[in-house]
Amino acid sequence: MGNAWKIGSVWGIPLRVHYTWFIILVLIVFSLIVSVSPAQGYPLWGRVTAAVITALLFFASIIIHELCHSLVAVKNGIPVKDITLFVFGGVSQITKEASRPKVELFMAFVGPLSSFALGGVFSVLDYLLTIGGFELAAFFAGYLAFINLLLGVFNLIPGFPLDGGRVLRSIIWMVSGSYDKATKAAAIVGRLVAYIFIFGGIAIIFGGFWGAQWQLPVIGPVNWFTGVWIAFIGWFLDNAASSSRAQTVLKESLKGFTARDVMSEGCPSVAPDLSVGRLVHELVLPSGKRCALVLEHDSVLGMVTLANIKAAPRENWDITPVKAIMTPKDRLMMVKPETEAIKVLEIMDENDVNQLPVVEDGHVIGMAARDSVIRFLRTKSELGM
Ligand SMILES: [Zn+2]
Repeated sequence: MGNAWKIGSVWGIPLRVHYTWFIILVLIVFSLIVSVSPAQGYPLWGRVTAAVITALLFFASIIIHELCHSLVAVKNGIPVKDITLFVFGGVSQITKEASRPKVELFMAFVGPLSSFALGGVFSVLDYLLTIGGFELAAFFAGYLAFINLLLGVFNLIPGFPLDGGRVLRSIIWMVSGSYDKATKAAAIVGRLVAYIFIFGGIAIIFGGFWGAQWQLPVIGPVNWFTGVWIAFIGWFLDNAASSSRAQTVLKESLKGFTARDVMSEGCPSVAPDLSVGRLVHELVLPSGKRCALVLEHDSVLGMVTLANIKAAPRENWDITPVKAIMTPKDRLMMVKPETEAIKVLEIMDENDVNQLPVVEDGHVIGMAARDSVIRFLRTKSELGM
């Protein structure tokens, strides 16, 4: 997900905020300030402070929900790349699929469960504050209880990438014993749910319009807004479903292939003292190669990629040796020729790299790169395979 800023990290998992999150934050603060009835009697500064604290607690609630997913993932040996908050809540970037349906079911279910638990905690708080006579604080605790329960219910909708989609898939997976069948079935249900939202939203928009024409009591901008919002959620769910479909197609077409099949053979090698400037002009630009191994007396010192070159200040290219900007061998991820092609892509995702050296008996025999995988798939589809 682009346009997201890192705001911190928990247990080594980076927390990011997508710019669409701010839309929701502003909406929540604004609606809390203006629309709440028991708060009307309080001074503006009191309402603003309470609204901001409430919005931040909501923000914390979503992080707790995502951390619950991440905790189960990490405990089961599944790495979590980051947690991103965006307009519909949060998403944990879990780069690997669970290997057993039970793990997936538990990993998906703890999210909504934590939201329900938070809803319970805020309900109790609401009750205690009400009997204590803290009207404004009680109102906001009640709001947090409601929104957490809503979040739990929303996430149980059986469409990818919502938790409900994963719960559904893991159950079908458990019953049928086939991960692929379960993914396909869950994607179809996800699509169906998406269309129900889109058409339901449109019906509400026009229902509100006709309601106004016939002067029915349930009308007004709220209905119109709700309809647009519901249709928008449907559109989002449909988009997410088609991207998870694309992921499945990719997986299927790479099935049975290994790193050796998708790599480009050989890999340019350079001496550690070659300047970055010469590397760019003599190798990268003429050959279009995006990476090179740094070798000294036939042993690998590291690898230099376009990303390394771009990170080095351009005015220093001619005086910087490649060994100063390379990724050293001990931090270099490598794969074996027999590693599954889909696994190679997973390792790239987990480590945020675009290429991996393929090593056999201590020698680099080729380079598996994202673009070489794409080229491989294109050739395969052109041949109708
Ligand atoms: Zn969740």
